[in-house]
Amino acid sequence: MKDGQRRGRLFVLSGPSGVGKSTVLARLRRDVPQLWYSVSATTRTPRPGETHGVNYFFVTSDEFERLVADGQMLEHAFFAGNHYGTPQGPVQEHLEAGHDVLLEIDVQGARQVRASPGLGREAVLVFLAPPSFDELARRLIGRGTEDEAATAARLEAARAELAAEPEFDHTLVNTSVEDAASGLVSFLAEPCSPASAG
Ligand code: 5GP
Repeated sequence: MKDGQRRGRLFVLSGPSGVGKSTVLARLRRDVPQLWYSVSATTRTPRPGETHGVNYFFVTSDEFERLVADGQMLEHAFFAGNHYGTPQGPVQEHLEAGHDVLLEIDVQGARQVRASPGLGREAVLVFLAPPSFDELARRLIGRGTEDEAATAARLEAARAELAAEPEFDHTLVNTSVEDAASGLVSFLAEPCSPASAG
């Protein structure tokens, strides 16, 4: 980092699958283009319209294991049958360069970020919650991106994820994309807490 340059801040957006994180992020990308959005690696099969290097780095299980073994993942988790992880290098580079960084990850990953030395103290963890469990189930089934078994696995995971909400710094209820995105923008604009300053 250059003298006098502020280090970037790390923001984590988490919450159950189907709650609408990607939709809120698409809005945020439009409204806050200066934020750097991390691209995760996953062993999941691409959905129609998803592009390697844009939505995810789609890797094999062997490649994923190698990335983890080489210490290249900031955090990683096994979620509903697939591996997901945040490549460490680009996040650190952007923070060092003074850019604010946003990770969109599951609850297991958010916990690892919180526990990670150095980063955990400064990270701002935001939980995106559905208006209700029934509404989450309706959205997850309605979007139709997974087969029945995978949808059931995601709903099962969602129950545990919803219970993790108190571990987060902020909660946003996703009643509308506009409100959730503007809530996030307000967290981005908040001054650093005394614990994370400096
Ligand atoms: P999806 O398969 O729907 O794209 O993602 C499934 C879940 O994995 C979502 O909750 C998403 O936020 C999470 N996820 C995506 N990338 C990562 C990552 O790099 N690390 C972790 N821990 N979770 C991730």
